[in-house]
Amino acid sequence: MTNEVRTLLDLVAIPSVSPMSNRPVIDYVLDRLNPDAWSTRLYPYRDAAGVEKVNLVATTGNPRDTAELALVCHTDTVPFDPAWSEAVQPVVRDGKLYGRGSCDVKGFLACILASTSKLDLRRLSKPLAIVLTADEEIGCVGAKFIAGQAALRSRYAIVGEPTGLRPVRAGKGYALAEIIVRGKESHSAFPEQGHSAIYDAARIVTRLEQAAKKLSSRKNAAFNPPYTTLNVGLIHGGTAKNIVPGECRITVEWRPIPGQDPMRAAALIENQLARLREANPKLDAQLQVKRLDPAFEPAATDRLVAVVQSLSRRHSGTVSFGTEAAHLHSLTEETIVFGPGNMETAHKSGEFVPLAELNQCTAILEAAIKKLCA
Ligand SMILES: [Zn+2]
Repeated sequence: MTNEVRTLLDLVAIPSVSPMSNRPVIDYVLDRLNPDAWSTRLYPYRDAAGVEKVNLVATTGNPRDTAELALVCHTDTVPFDPAWSEAVQPVVRDGKLYGRGSCDVKGFLACILASTSKLDLRRLSKPLAIVLTADEEIGCVGAKFIAGQAALRSRYAIVGEPTGLRPVRAGKGYALAEIIVRGKESHSAFPEQGHSAIYDAARIVTRLEQAAKKLSSRKNAAFNPPYTTLNVGLIHGGTAKNIVPGECRITVEWRPIPGQDPMRAAALIENQLARLREANPKLDAQLQVKRLDPAFEPAATDRLVAVVQSLSRRHSGTVSFGTEAAHLHSLTEETIVFGPGNMETAHKSGEFVPLAELNQCTAILEAAIKKLCA
């Protein structure tokens, strides 16, 4: 069994679902890093529930110097169905390793540890860094914290996510908002005494569909689909069948393409609400933007992407899911997202990563470190 497979079996067996402390994963990694080669700094914080979360920055060379390459990986996972027994009792079967986080994204972490353990790090002439973060799956909280602390500078960064070993140089952003529609409750036998929040919400939803159409006219051919998508994912309204509903909430998300103001969709929605208010003066609706993650903008340079393209023999691409790369913008000059496994097998029971990709990823990281830091 290879180093990265043994390591990944260990890592998956340490549960680190986002609400839990990720400290045990950080401790495992600290134990594996040779103190003669690495200086380590911890960036702990407490989450909203008071649970301790820890980010780790490990560097070779002088920690005050700008690193040449940072390998970035989150340590938390999404939750798992308790009925899935292999979730934290990982198994290897048919050339795949099954377990929660095997693909997203402990597989990449195992490759980081395996590749760096093969190298004589004291002989690198330019510093290498490892950055481990908490709470990625609940909004890149750890990455934002690290960026806010300016915890390191690195010319290049590889952020681990399952991309099937294809280097990714840009990604869509993510925004989440709620529209709160207020009406007036009354007995349903006397609707004239009330004002239905659900009727108003229905008017708004059809306008949201128009806003989505408008967003689709601005294209960025690097993406599939090539425009900012908008989704109305949830509607909650009313209290009983015989009450005219007094409130209705609409949850809407959009994924802005790079180069477009992420607030563009919010402006379009506000515009539609204003037009509806003109026609229906009683309409009471408020848009609250709850989350606004910028897009992962492509870098001005392409050295890193070129190195990883040639090592992986895969052309670079883009992703439509959010990653920590967008938040590390202030710390790096060029960032790519890269890692073994496919995002389509992550975030569900039966998550796995192919052993062959783990093996290739370790070799690619080792070669990339030699090429960039030697
Ligand atoms: Zn991930």
